[in-house]
Amino acid sequence: MLVQASGCLLNEVNGLKNEEGKREFPFEIETKTGFWQKEMMNLKGLVKYAHGDGYTELREVERTNPAPHEVVIAVKAAGVCGSDLHIYHDEMKTPLELPVVIGHEFSGEIIEAGAEVDGFNIGDRVTAVPNIWTCAKCRYCRSGYINLCSTRRVLGYSSNGAFAEQCTVPAHCLFELPANVDFLAGALTEPLACCTNGVIEQTGISAGDFVVITGPGAIGLLTLQLAKAEGGIVAICGVSGDEKRLQLAKELGADYTIRADKVDAIETIKEFTDGYGADVVLECSGAAAGASLGLNIVRKRGKYTQMGLFGQPIKIDFELIAYKELQVTGFVSQKRSSWERALKLMEHGKISTKPLISHQLPLDDWKRAFEMFEQRAGVKLTLIP
Ligand SMILES: [Zn+2]
Ligand SMILES: [Zn+2]
Repeated sequence: MLVQASGCLLNEVNGLKNEEGKREFPFEIETKTGFWQKEMMNLKGLVKYAHGDGYTELREVERTNPAPHEVVIAVKAAGVCGSDLHIYHDEMKTPLELPVVIGHEFSGEIIEAGAEVDGFNIGDRVTAVPNIWTCAKCRYCRSGYINLCSTRRVLGYSSNGAFAEQCTVPAHCLFELPANVDFLAGALTEPLACCTNGVIEQTGISAGDFVVITGPGAIGLLTLQLAKAEGGIVAICGVSGDEKRLQLAKELGADYTIRADKVDAIETIKEFTDGYGADVVLECSGAAAGASLGLNIVRKRGKYTQMGLFGQPIKIDFELIAYKELQVTGFVSQKRSSWERALKLMEHGKISTKPLISHQLPLDDWKRAFEMFEQRAGVKLTLIP
């Protein structure tokens, strides 16, 4: 079975129907430019090939044909996420099946489709949920929490991901990009869906809540826009080196920006809130200092949500949860509902992901991108295969 062929006639691309009405692809198809045959070719991909710190390199990976329910996507843009760095350093709790091509935030164009793929066609502009396989039987799957299925398989962790020229995913993971969302903006649907899960589905903000976000990185800036969309009054905290990110936060609607290393953030927030503290804290820095600040500035009976990942156990005054009667939550990955909501917010211009993209680097420069990420250069780094 094959498809890709520029100049292919559409019915050829979509396959032919057999007697049972199922689509089938001929082994070779005639196109306007001649016959195309299934061929094995190798692709460039960024592979984590062994456990331990590092052990990652650009390699030729075998390009396999899609199964009947899968599509092959030509990756147009892929975002570098904190989780990719945690995978690189082998600090991730989500299981890895090595060797694996990493990368799970991406957009692209369908270039090949399996015979049973329905509803998507060659040329569609898409992005995909990284939870590529879940059991559909456990109590989490049955209630829509596919992100919590203990046997879930994840793109870029247990199956070859998006830091590659092409990536193969099951069609049930696909979402078509809205017409006004380009490939770059669309590559950030996954982190936005994460934040939608954390802010809207897990935390819940009421209009007028005073919300504090710690960490003005990409997750912080998406979280900021969601908190604003929910009606929150938002203060976002950063430290030295975050000046540009805080400036961007202002442009994206932050009511207050705070340099936590320059001013006493706890006192500043108290001043804004009649001495009570924040109704909601969304901890996006994934740093112990951010978590500590968050637990100290949230008001009694307030909400604290852990949005960022630390990558290691941290030391924190956990007792504050008891003394303040806090509601504490967190999240991992996203549900399908998080994606639907994220794409609707992008389509209707309630959230802009594109201003966050500070760098587009060729896939060959992945190492530089990873170093820049760790040096907190720019906001969102993308790799372009
Ligand atoms: Zn991510
Ligand atoms: Zn399950």
